[in-house]
Amino acid sequence: MSGLALEGVRKRFGDVAALDGVDLEAHEGELLVVVGPSGCGKSTLLRCVAGLETVDEGSIRIRERDVTKLRPAARDVAMVFQSYALFPHLTVWENIGFGLVVREEPKREVRARVDEAAALVGVTELLERRPYQLSGGERQRVALARALVRRPDAYLLDEPLSNLDAGTRVQMRTELRRLHREVGATMVHVTHDQVEAMTLGDRIAVMDRGRVRQVGPPDEVYREPRDRFVASFLGTPAMNFLDAEAARAFVAVPGGAEVGVRPEHVRLGPDGVATRVDIVEVAGSEAYVHLENGLVAHVPADARPAEGAEVHVAIRREDVRLFDAESGERLEWT
Ligand code: ATP
Repeated sequence: MSGLALEGVRKRFGDVAALDGVDLEAHEGELLVVVGPSGCGKSTLLRCVAGLETVDEGSIRIRERDVTKLRPAARDVAMVFQSYALFPHLTVWENIGFGLVVREEPKREVRARVDEAAALVGVTELLERRPYQLSGGERQRVALARALVRRPDAYLLDEPLSNLDAGTRVQMRTELRRLHREVGATMVHVTHDQVEAMTLGDRIAVMDRGRVRQVGPPDEVYREPRDRFVASFLGTPAMNFLDAEAARAFVAVPGGAEVGVRPEHVRLGPDGVATRVDIVEVAGSEAYVHLENGLVAHVPADARPAEGAEVHVAIRREDVRLFDAESGERLEWT
């Protein structure tokens, strides 16, 4: 079953096409991550699904139910924001249970569900505190718990980890995956962070300027990008791009194409084209080697060459991706 689906969705703000014909489907129970640069329309997409914005064209279905024209409360989705949006004067317990209390759910039921949600995100010890007595990571857990108690048809997460420090962020990322596995609900998570997207998502949808460019499992999108934008957006360091003429020093590529090679596929060894090492950046066990010929190679830190050393570079044919130099579309190469 489809968990959530957008079909031909368009949304304009004045001259800006924030959503320019979006087709996207999250399977039931899937964690789908929507990723793209700032301003590509990610938040607008979530806000349209939640009903916080109306769409100009197209339709939105949640579990096969057309919700395009429904008001937010009737859509049965829970949204978690980057800003947490907790009530400062309420305790953690009251924040988590707020929605249930307002709907006058039976007290015993409220208590059970708040306790269960608090335990799921690990804030049971904090229930009596108020938001100002919590760290950023703890606040974000509370915001997640507040979404979880509602047991909605779908969860919409808008950059929920981006206000956290790097360590907490990585920890929460793992917890979010575990939480998703336990809850088993459809979740759409929006981020501009490609590492977060690749590590978190069952599938990722890469957006650019109001359009979804590619949807698929993270490793597939990384290995077989559909166009130059997707290829360049995913990966650190970024994919190397060369024109066909420069690339012919390594591989016999057809003319007119733009040639993409991932840094881990720039092979330094005894054979190949000679060049010198310009700068070497070491990041723990990894090293990024900037070469004088403009390429960047990604090698294990303990195999890195010295700055100024002469090296030989080889690129395998199967590691090369070709893109149309004009449109950026991927070119098949057999
Ligand atoms: P970020 O990662 O920076 O939050 P985003 O991908 O979530 O960006 P959106 O917030 O969806 O992007 O914005 C998409 C485009 O629509 C941007 O050009 C933005 O300026 C514009 N936009 C969004 N909301 C409004 C609004 N209420 N009024 C006018 N323009 C808007």
